[in-house]
Amino acid sequence: MHGVNLYDYSARYMDSQIGRFTSVDPLAEKYYSWSPYVYVANNPLKYVDLKGDSLTLVGENAHLEATVGIYGQNLQGYYDISIQNGLVSMVAVAGADMSTMTAQQTNQRDILDNIINGAGMTTLNIVGNSTSVIIGDVNTATIDIGDISKLGTGGDVSSTSTLLHETEEQYRLQVRNLNTNRAHAFGVNAENRINPSGNETSGAEIIWENGYKTLPDRTPVGFTPNGTIIVPFMNSTGARVTPTHILFRNKNVTNVIR
Ligand SMILES: [Zn+2]
Repeated sequence: MHGVNLYDYSARYMDSQIGRFTSVDPLAEKYYSWSPYVYVANNPLKYVDLKGDSLTLVGENAHLEATVGIYGQNLQGYYDISIQNGLVSMVAVAGADMSTMTAQQTNQRDILDNIINGAGMTTLNIVGNSTSVIIGDVNTATIDIGDISKLGTGGDVSSTSTLLHETEEQYRLQVRNLNTNRAHAFGVNAENRINPSGNETSGAEIIWENGYKTLPDRTPVGFTPNGTIIVPFMNSTGARVTPTHILFRNKNVTNVIR
């Protein structure tokens, strides 16, 4: 996420306004060129021996375990994702038939594999139900796994897609040395690639308790501890699909309505 609050969604909204995330994204092309599995996608055995050495989680054990659980929850039966001494690793399940994975699962595997097993170290600070971080703070590389967990497993704004967004964003900042806006674009791209609906274009609007709030530019909106953010997704033809309402109170996600 951008900033300390909901700037992430505001940036996405703006991006949709200026057509940044159309079906053909130059950033996505760059991403794909960096995925090592373009070349070994037909050799699932290649994954078995991979040992993670490029993603570190820092925080209380319970929060780290919760984070790893979300990384792996859509890949169960195919890959085991675990953590030891802060390092995240992803190992193929022996005998698993990778050809039965969905496109979204394959994308999730590729995104995580690029970060966990690729070059460079990404470090994430994991907190739980923090009163200073809503979902994620891009500037301090801090993720609130309590908030993210509340997003659940269904729909296009899920705990998995949101965590992948934050992780990809920090990888692009820390390892690829991109600026915040471009790193965020990769985060959105990662999120879209694992959305169950397969929608390639996303937009967002923010509505607070006191009414509709438009976002005229990329200036971060103020910290609003109590309110509602509505995240609508659009399909490739521009038609809206069911929005997700995320409710906040006391700087934490309290409820998600789909
Ligand atoms: Zn972001």
